[in-house]
Amino acid sequence: MSRESLQAKAVRLKKIIAALDRTYPEAHCELDYAGPLQLLIATILSAQCTDKRVNIVTTDLFKKYRSAVDYANAPLAELEQAVKSTGFFRNKAKNIQACCRKLVELHAGNVPRTMEELTQLDGVGRKTANVVLGNAFGINVGVVVDTHIARLSQRLGLTKQKTPEKIELELMALVPQKQWTLFSHWLIWHGRRRCAARRPDCEGCEIKQNCPRIGVKIAEKTSNIEL
Ligand code: SF4
Repeated sequence: MSRESLQAKAVRLKKIIAALDRTYPEAHCELDYAGPLQLLIATILSAQCTDKRVNIVTTDLFKKYRSAVDYANAPLAELEQAVKSTGFFRNKAKNIQACCRKLVELHAGNVPRTMEELTQLDGVGRKTANVVLGNAFGINVGVVVDTHIARLSQRLGLTKQKTPEKIELELMALVPQKQWTLFSHWLIWHGRRRCAARRPDCEGCEIKQNCPRIGVKIAEKTSNIEL
């Protein structure tokens, strides 16, 4: 089969999206939060940590610290203890405090709604900003690219790029903007439930007919797509 044209890729992606929508109609951010500040804190904590662990930690954290001022004024050692089990706790506590001090100084304690303002906060890169904008504010500025999304985008032949920044740009060009946030959820849910890093369940996969399984080493192929 010849190289897939951009048009053919768009048609295939449409089918993938329809199947993911059917499979995960309830897909959503799996971090527990109420409001933008809690989501911002939870997303900072989720680096190199499972959502499940973050949710355990934030159950108490969010009861103790209720505003940006609370985080800004907390003794750093106390904050470190509170987030310790999420890993990299010194760095995360330092970033959360510095981030909240900027929220207090520059934004009256509120979480800003633009990519530019968010990425100026400590510990906040494009990924975290996309999570907050898409889920807390319903603003689609970009596509979240975490390890699941990077892996699936490559296996699905949607990108050959390796860095999150370049993968995001290619996905933004392919996926309709109104679906950017949902698309991230679909791929994360599929990555967690079906397309695991080591042993993807290709046989039981709901999108196998439209997946070229790039880089997946399994004897039997279920698709003839060649990229
Ligand atoms: S067919 Fe396999 S590689 Fe492709 S999305 Fe499904 S589980 Fe992942």
